[in-house]
Amino acid sequence: MKKQPHKDYTRLHQHSRHAKILSGIESLLSWDQETYMPKNAASIRAEQIKTLAGIIHKEQTSKKFANALERLIDLKTGKILAEELSSEQKRAVELWRSDYLKEKALPAKFVEDFARLSSEGVFAWETAKKENNFKMFLPYLKKVVSMNRKKADYLGFKNHPYDALLDRYEPEMTAAELDKVFIPLRTFLTGLIKKIGSAKQVDDAVFKQEYNPSQQFSFGQKLLEWIGYDPASGRLDISSHPFSTSSHPSDSRITTRIDPRLFISNIRSVLHECGHAFYEMGLPEAHYGSPLGEAVSLGIHESQSRWWETRIGQSKPFCSFLLPHLKQEFEGKLEHLSLDQFWKAFNKVEPSLTRVEADEVTYPLHVMLRYEIEIALIEGTLQPKDLPQAWGEKMQELLGVTPKTDSEGCMQDIHWAMGAFGYFPTYALGNLYAAHLFTAFEKKHPNWDTLVQQGEFSTIKTWLYENIHQHGRRYTGKELLKKATGTDFSSDAYISYLENKYSQIYCLN
Ligand code: ZN
Repeated sequence: MKKQPHKDYTRLHQHSRHAKILSGIESLLSWDQETYMPKNAASIRAEQIKTLAGIIHKEQTSKKFANALERLIDLKTGKILAEELSSEQKRAVELWRSDYLKEKALPAKFVEDFARLSSEGVFAWETAKKENNFKMFLPYLKKVVSMNRKKADYLGFKNHPYDALLDRYEPEMTAAELDKVFIPLRTFLTGLIKKIGSAKQVDDAVFKQEYNPSQQFSFGQKLLEWIGYDPASGRLDISSHPFSTSSHPSDSRITTRIDPRLFISNIRSVLHECGHAFYEMGLPEAHYGSPLGEAVSLGIHESQSRWWETRIGQSKPFCSFLLPHLKQEFEGKLEHLSLDQFWKAFNKVEPSLTRVEADEVTYPLHVMLRYEIEIALIEGTLQPKDLPQAWGEKMQELLGVTPKTDSEGCMQDIHWAMGAFGYFPTYALGNLYAAHLFTAFEKKHPNWDTLVQQGEFSTIKTWLYENIHQHGRRYTGKELLKKATGTDFSSDAYISYLENKYSQIYCLN
């Protein structure tokens, strides 16, 4: 006998679905803002988005929603009241409760003030960055730090206020756990960079020629077609910073950045954002609007993008697949490039000042620098006014380079201007998770390299769908990693991956 749908559960889902539809509209407005919106519409667009954000917050914390939720679970104790729910539904109800409590923990006035600070902060940051004027940004940074401390107090934490902030992006991760992973990784990476620095350097001059922008764009579209991105459920556009956005599994869009002299950057961006889009497209549609229809965490999301960008894209088999296509598309530019030269150039390691263009080896250090600074700012051991100096010192310590200006130093990213503390670590976690997952994938498909070389990507997509995408938030990040790989998460896979790959590229040992 087919089970009747649970009435209270259906009501709750309907209510939540409505809020999800509104946030889908909000993300379309943001997508438009970054791609096609006329410049003069900036101020009305900010108002449109703010209005919608207010409505969504109200929906998520409304009495109506709480009442529907309370019929299924005790909000105080977390005890499930509707025992007849399936285990999947119980998990959804528990997530609804914890999301609701977190949302509710922040007073409406605080949420509004934070949203205002965030938009003013970004505005001030844009000008301050352009004019290389840290003093102009400082008052906002001070407010951002103090409001994040307040936010942590509202949300509550056991050991460290940073845990409360991190939890918003990477549920259940703590600063103590991050330290356990980051501290040994930091030592390993700085050591590897030193070894690479004294080895024979890789030549990537071939990428620095000028490549026609519209040709680059159409190559990006072809690339998407080859790896199986469905243009009927998404599209590729251009923006100043590449991003992906999804309002539903049937509409998952991505953007890329085209620079005539940074031709590899377009390829990396397209692969990266497509990895994010695959995740969103693979989320279970039946659960759209429920927590089960959402991604687990930003770290897991980033593991999907880095998977396609680095683990597949920057692998030798993929280079072997790609090179003939590149030679054909950009006739005359890459004629004499061998596979080995291409692969090495694609993976060139070079300590630099900018996170977004960093190579695989130096990238996590850019993240750790920001993480260590965030911790110090939240603890109060670093004052916002001393940020430029702290940045310079850490940059020198970790990467051996020093920025000449604050614009290319501590003001390069938008995150702090937006008020997002606790976000950066997820960028590094994504790489670590991807490596951990890859060990299991490789065991299941030891011939993956042959498939990639032949341009056959559906096996990879299916594996990711089955092990990650289709589960939504059914499991926690840790459970998901364990379920997919059979082992607890650690940084071991990542470290040995980097060690093997870069020893080959730079002929170390
Ligand atoms: Zn990403």
